[in-house]
Amino acid sequence: MSEHTLPANLREQLLATDDRWCVYCHTTEANSGQPMTVDHIVPQAQDGPTSFDNLCFACRRCNEFKGSATTACDPLTGEIVSLFYPRNQTWSEHFAWDASGTWVIGLTAVGRATVIALNMNSTVIVNARRRWVSVGWHPPEP
Ligand SMILES: [Zn+2]
Repeated sequence: MSEHTLPANLREQLLATDDRWCVYCHTTEANSGQPMTVDHIVPQAQDGPTSFDNLCFACRRCNEFKGSATTACDPLTGEIVSLFYPRNQTWSEHFAWDASGTWVIGLTAVGRATVIALNMNSTVIVNARRRWVSVGWHPPEP
């Protein structure tokens, strides 16, 4: 969904809260040169409402890899767990940057499963982050 098809009040809430970055991988609109997409955290196909509590900004990559998923496998335990839910979970409790600032590390089962499901450390994005880090554009300040 595009932010331009949202009711104005929801668009303003998202802009105020998510500040034009991906709530999953923290890629900024300015770095990617791509407008954020609006992710239904619980997909509309699963009766997820178009309400602030179920919407977030996500980069095109994360949104496409997430698709209609709400759960994924924790690679450490093999358990199926819920994906990160940005409206009632805190990023820093589930994820961290590695020392280089280019790899997202899953700290919890939710974090690990989300990193894998959304392909958050693919070669393409890690190489892009390496360039952003070299000029001080990444990771963004929360
Ligand atoms: Zn992302």
